[in-house]
Amino acid sequence: MSDSPSPVQLYTGAELALYGFGEGHPFGPDRMDAFWQETIRQGLDKRVSIAAPVMADRAAIERFHTPEYVNRVINQSESGQGYLDQGDTPAFKGIYEAAATVVGTVLAAAEESINGTHPRCFIPIAGLHHARRNMAAGFCVFNDAGVLIETLRSEYGIKRIAYVDIDAHHGDGVYYAFESDPDLCFVDIHEDGTHLYPGTGFADETGTGAATGTKLNLPQRPGANDADFLKTWPEAETFIRTFKPEFIIFQCGADSIKGDPITDMAFTPKSHAHAAASLCRIADEFSQGRIVALGGGGYNRTNLAEGWNAVLLQLILT
Ligand SMILES: [Zn+2]
Repeated sequence: MSDSPSPVQLYTGAELALYGFGEGHPFGPDRMDAFWQETIRQGLDKRVSIAAPVMADRAAIERFHTPEYVNRVINQSESGQGYLDQGDTPAFKGIYEAAATVVGTVLAAAEESINGTHPRCFIPIAGLHHARRNMAAGFCVFNDAGVLIETLRSEYGIKRIAYVDIDAHHGDGVYYAFESDPDLCFVDIHEDGTHLYPGTGFADETGTGAATGTKLNLPQRPGANDADFLKTWPEAETFIRTFKPEFIIFQCGADSIKGDPITDMAFTPKSHAHAAASLCRIADEFSQGRIVALGGGGYNRTNLAEGWNAVLLQLILT
């Protein structure tokens, strides 16, 4: 191993695991540790810098979310009662602090990526891409990617951002929030919306108004495998390169790997590694190396452990 410091920072800790909906839930608090035990098993913890989670303040969350919605989360976090949406995302006591910690950790990673010595960062419990500005959805309370995009603009003057998502589900919370934003390059490879929640992300959704042509939705058939991914990826890569992003956000959801209990896709971690390596090269070329990877979905514990660590390894190696 070389003496030079790793360019990669990994965020891990019990505070991130608190974002989970109870043992037995697909999005349970045990996901963090399933990932981390595999990180240790592969020795990757010795090859990255480790940093602790950070809680975001309310003002940061409101760069993306409405004050009314933040109030609702705070109130239901105190009571621990009811749902934060139509019935997918239950409240629990402390959910505000847990969700704010996901956001704060992603923002800390961005700051590290921009100002620090670690341009490449990985946050396993993050990438909550279904949350809307004014509501929760699909296990997602605060949309950390959405807050990150707004923060890059308002706090760092970084305008041209690429958001790349290979989670099995369409990143609708990011897509619709920035559908008319020409400076947000959106690329999403996901299971076709006619088969899977949230039922969006069709190929003809390319952005609106001045943003038409800045969004690329690449829906896949149920059962899509690595061969399908490799056939699809060059179009994604060319699209991102042509855009020349100043910063890259990579949502590397592991629920697109074969054997996930709630989706029907059949990628292996090789697809995740391929995308990660490609995005690192693009980041080096156009974005001063700056890439933040967010774990996203993934409900088969073995898959998320292998898929996310495959991404982490490429952040280290590429
Ligand atoms: Zn998903």
